[in-house]
Amino acid sequence: MGRPRIRDAQYWKDYGVTYYQTHKESIKKDKRKYRENNKIKLSNAERFRRYGISENELYLLFNKQNKSCAICRKPLVLYSPIKGVSAHVDHDSEYGVRGILCHSCNIGIGNLQHDPFIIRAAERYLHHYV
Ligand SMILES: [Zn+2]
Repeated sequence: MGRPRIRDAQYWKDYGVTYYQTHKESIKKDKRKYRENNKIKLSNAERFRRYGISENELYLLFNKQNKSCAICRKPLVLYSPIKGVSAHVDHDSEYGVRGILCHSCNIGIGNLQHDPFIIRAAERYLHHYV
């Protein structure tokens, strides 16, 4: 008679699936809006999840590097809406976070396989033609 007072897990699972199906578009719209309005918060959470560095630790490191790239010393911004302009956290599985780099230096050392021998060989090669 009537609805059961205590609902089981399957009831709530079905309820959730039905709710999602009937409200799918508004849920997606809300998620997009949330991501748009919380970019920095989500960026910090993702950085912490990936590299284990908190927002405070990031600011300390950023200030220690005089708000510039650890390699080329170009001034950096921590958060930029323009893709490719924001600072990159340079991370190594063995050493953890090594420093903050600009996009070019981050890509550069990545393309040179993070290998000091290859990077020195590239330096010697370039000096040969200077
Ligand atoms: Zn740089």
